[in-house]
Amino acid sequence: MTHNISEKLFALTQRNSAVREMFEEGNRLAALYGRENVYDFSLGNPNFPAPKKVKDAVVDILDSEPSTMVHGYMSNAGFSDVRAAVAGSLNSRFGTSFNAQNIIMTVGAAGSLNVILKTLLNPGDEVVAIAPYFLEYGNYVANYDGVLTVVPPTSPDFQPDAEAIGKAVTPKTKALIINSPNNPTGVIYSEETIKKIAAVLEAKQKEYGHAIYILADEPYRELAYDGYEVPWLTKFYRNAIVSYSWSKSLSLPGERIGYLVIPAEADDSALIIDAAAIANRVMGFVNAPSLMQRVVMHCLDERTDIAAYDSNRKLLYKGLKDAGFECAYPQGAFYMWVKTPCDDKEFCARAKKYNILVVPGSSFACPGYVRIAYCVSPKTIEGSLPGFKKLAEEFSL
Ligand code: PLP
Repeated sequence: MTHNISEKLFALTQRNSAVREMFEEGNRLAALYGRENVYDFSLGNPNFPAPKKVKDAVVDILDSEPSTMVHGYMSNAGFSDVRAAVAGSLNSRFGTSFNAQNIIMTVGAAGSLNVILKTLLNPGDEVVAIAPYFLEYGNYVANYDGVLTVVPPTSPDFQPDAEAIGKAVTPKTKALIINSPNNPTGVIYSEETIKKIAAVLEAKQKEYGHAIYILADEPYRELAYDGYEVPWLTKFYRNAIVSYSWSKSLSLPGERIGYLVIPAEADDSALIIDAAAIANRVMGFVNAPSLMQRVVMHCLDERTDIAAYDSNRKLLYKGLKDAGFECAYPQGAFYMWVKTPCDDKEFCARAKKYNILVVPGSSFACPGYVRIAYCVSPKTIEGSLPGFKKLAEEFSL
């Protein structure tokens, strides 16, 4: 077939994201059966509203700050007072000593990851990801002609295996992506796991004589249940760079606002900071959305309703366990990771008969499981449970 678009993008048109496909399928089923009769657990799109303070901040800012400033261009790295406020907030929480220079405001975590990968990668450089992982990592790395290397999953607890990570690292490895709390498993990587990974990478850095960065992808940092602590990576590893976003913590995914933390002690820190701001510009983002930068500065201590997610977590977990499914109790994020009694894609097809939409584990490089995004209304969970029960009965669970 001939076409006029790039080969890379043509390939993507041929294999659209399974998550997005499910989402479209949800819309189709909702048109047929009514939205309330479709149990769509496909997309990590928060159902709970942004805290009231977000709206108040929008109104206050528009009323009180000069329009030319609020809506204007600024430094490619972001407003300096916003960057300073973010640094101060991190310092008070984690005992670090960042300043405005160490923070680059970005277009969400997706923007952060693309900016840092563009900053670090030459064609052929390798980036290690740990399965199961957010599949967009492959696309982001490919954007800069990098190569994604995948460490196999470690069931049943899905804490990464540091030794296996060491085996995946080669002289071409530039970075390891770590995502905790994890999408899709809901696992929080423990301090012990992080220390082991840091030790392995330190040894590899020495062996190869160059930096191997950890890119900590943390859009779910604030979504940790039962008092679980999410280790702050820069305390354990000098070359850790953190990517954050308010998409989930303030329920603002469409607003596209996040940041990168590039610590002063990281190798080539000053150069990376300069280059990341330039990457923001030349990739066409130019800067993170200006109004949202100002809004998040006023909402640094605000959080989404974690108790509501927690209640969903308990409701869904109990329903699935009572039906006979095997799944781990998530420690963070808003995903349930469930073992499938048959091929995971077949399971998703069978679930659709009950108007239940879930995403196959193969979409996260880990077949044999499905991901259920429980950032939905409790009614959706309650309504889905009879269908899950019938599904379990089909497999005599
Ligand atoms: N990283 C992970 C693990 C995610 O799950 C997501 C979104 O779901 C992103 C990054 C992108 O988040 P953002 O909306 O901030 O770009």
